[in-house]
Amino acid sequence: MGIPLLQKLLVGSYVVRQHLAGRKRYPLVLMLEPLFRCNLACAGCGKIDYPDPILHQNMPVADALRAVDECGAPVVSIAGGEPLLHKNLPEIVQGIVARRKFVYLCTNALLMEKKLKQYKPSSFFTWSVHLDGDKEMHDASVCQPGVYDRAVSAIRKAKEAGFRVNINCTLFNNAQGDRVAAFFDTVKAMGVDGITVSPGYAYERAPDQQHFLNREKTKQLFRDIFRRGRGGRDWAFSQSTLFLDFLAGNQRYHCTPWGNPTRTVFGWQKPCYLLGEGYTQTFKELMDGTDWDAYGTGNYEKCADCMVHCGYEASAVADAISNPLKALAVSLRGVRTEGDTVPDVRLDNQRPAQYVFSQHVEKKLEEIRQNKQREPLEAAE
Ligand code: SF4
Ligand code: SF4
Repeated sequence: MGIPLLQKLLVGSYVVRQHLAGRKRYPLVLMLEPLFRCNLACAGCGKIDYPDPILHQNMPVADALRAVDECGAPVVSIAGGEPLLHKNLPEIVQGIVARRKFVYLCTNALLMEKKLKQYKPSSFFTWSVHLDGDKEMHDASVCQPGVYDRAVSAIRKAKEAGFRVNINCTLFNNAQGDRVAAFFDTVKAMGVDGITVSPGYAYERAPDQQHFLNREKTKQLFRDIFRRGRGGRDWAFSQSTLFLDFLAGNQRYHCTPWGNPTRTVFGWQKPCYLLGEGYTQTFKELMDGTDWDAYGTGNYEKCADCMVHCGYEASAVADAISNPLKALAVSLRGVRTEGDTVPDVRLDNQRPAQYVFSQHVEKKLEEIRQNKQREPLEAAE
């Protein structure tokens, strides 16, 4: 089962409570990025292109746990950068598990075997290992040979030690449906507990801009994959079936970026995990002060091709709550892979992209400089 029963029950009851309370916007998964530093430099990564002083920032444990409390989401996905480079990460994970939140620790697995003993198996804790396909696909995606083998070895060790282990797989326009399906068969045979799959987002800061999928290609690719796995039923996904149905072009959703609010070393990121268009210091300011209608496919140029889970999984979950019979039907019969796709959101009225990255970087660098100047003065007091 891609999502454990306990998680289904606790997250399901949380979502129902939000609906009963009439909350229009609520968080489902907190995306916590305690640092941006990484020990890889993947071609499609848009997360690590920062000057060194920013890459060397580590979110303090207290800030990380305050973010978890402020947000209140039942699931916390720890991403980065490579989170295992953060020396206090075990403490952060422990603190979140103690709050009975489900932690997904995303890692490229290079340090995973070495650090395995710092973590304890728990139904609230899952390793989420970055694997973008078979050996050849993954090593090409992360631009380094041998990474696939190290990740697979770490997965085996973690399974032997009693951990839950998922993989997270990002796909680009060079992925082939049958090959991805064969890769999913391989990870299933390894005993992996769940698969998180998503098309790559066209990050403006990624070194490789040639391999991102557009929406039409995304739908075709996912139909090709699911066709080879009984509409996706052959594999345990840690995502809702309606989100998978959306990827195959059978559902038309507007994104719900507040479903996966993101806290980085800059603060709370507007509007989502993928776009850093502004930052707030509190979760409340993020929720109340973001002009949500300015974002999403059809509203903003940078969102045109996005079909990523952190924007649309929460949309699919809300749909499943409102239409449980539809969700059940897709779970039972699998994702439809033939016939017409549903008409997509129109792009005629989207506002043009704004480029604000340098402005935020400059502001953060100035803050770091001022903190450095204050340190000796405070030490002398
Ligand atoms: S995609 Fe992940 S592993 Fe690759 S460089 Fe970015 S943060 Fe590191
Ligand atoms: S569509 Fe939504 S999730 Fe995707 S980049 Fe835009 S705001 Fe973010």
